[in-house]
Amino acid sequence: MMVQYDDETLQTINDNVDLLAYVSQQIDMRQRGRDYFGRCPFHQERTPSFSITPETNKFYCFGCGAGGGIIQYLMQAENLDFNSAVSKASHLANIDLNTMCRSQTVMFNRNLKQSKQERSHKAQHTILPYSEYAKYDKGIITSWLSEGIRQEEIDLFDIRLDRRSKRIVYPVYDTKGNLINIKGRTMLDNYKSLGIEKYINYYPVGTVDYFQGLMVTLPYIEQSGEIIIFEGLKSVMKLFGFGIRNSVSAEKHTLTTEQIQIIIHNPHINSVVLAYDSDVSYTRRTFDGKPNRKVYENMCMLKRFINLYVIEDRHNLLGGVEAKNSPVDLGLDIWNELYRNKRKVT
Ligand SMILES: [Zn+2]
Repeated sequence: MMVQYDDETLQTINDNVDLLAYVSQQIDMRQRGRDYFGRCPFHQERTPSFSITPETNKFYCFGCGAGGGIIQYLMQAENLDFNSAVSKASHLANIDLNTMCRSQTVMFNRNLKQSKQERSHKAQHTILPYSEYAKYDKGIITSWLSEGIRQEEIDLFDIRLDRRSKRIVYPVYDTKGNLINIKGRTMLDNYKSLGIEKYINYYPVGTVDYFQGLMVTLPYIEQSGEIIIFEGLKSVMKLFGFGIRNSVSAEKHTLTTEQIQIIIHNPHINSVVLAYDSDVSYTRRTFDGKPNRKVYENMCMLKRFINLYVIEDRHNLLGGVEAKNSPVDLGLDIWNELYRNKRKVT
């Protein structure tokens, strides 16, 4: 018979088992940054991709995608069914299940399949018909042309105009090529004083498990074995116009776990070049001295799986921190210089 547990009970059990201590009895786990890494018990591998985050008491494997708390771990590692895993975990947590409240209304027979579905559900986006996007105009985008972006790339990346809300719009695709969003950048120079966002997404974003521009540039990335990552699509288009086609936009200067997975799961990609704007530091600290946690963690993760390079403006070719220039903003020669001097992260 399937016993039903409420969310709270399961959370309490999860919180009261030290996942790292338990797993460490079976796997050699080593600390890297905030996380611990070991060889995954669920798939064959030589380099550790199985991580535990003590802060959340959860595991995640960057190799096979397995993840969860102690209950999911027991189900998979020790081949227990859900009830046995809950029972074992409650012993480990020193919790007497009979004294915990059980709710009949909150069904919580979270088996492995469901938790997998949950993860994919979290990542799910609304798939939009192309007609949602096609209703915007293919106009002349003078501001981008004057910045040096060519009409060829404006056409190729299918950039359009939302005349009603005065925005430049571009389509957002998932890795399967489905249209999942429309992103808009205001054309109003005084957007700040008007209280308008510079960028907006026309639909809820959900998990950022995509890169902007990848639909166009993936063949070039796979051919070259290298992916250059910018903060914005405009940089991708400018570089494309220079004849260098293997880049994408992360849409900001940090990568999500899902974006890192896209890279390390692609067997054709063996190098990553981070090419963020000139105000982004590639060290533990930002240029104004604050902890640079996310960028630094992204780098620690990437360099373990792939050759990692960063483009730094060491000689102030981009005008420094204040200028916030992308490495392509000042032309091909400066890009080439910066690219040639990219630093390998070891
Ligand atoms: Zn694994």
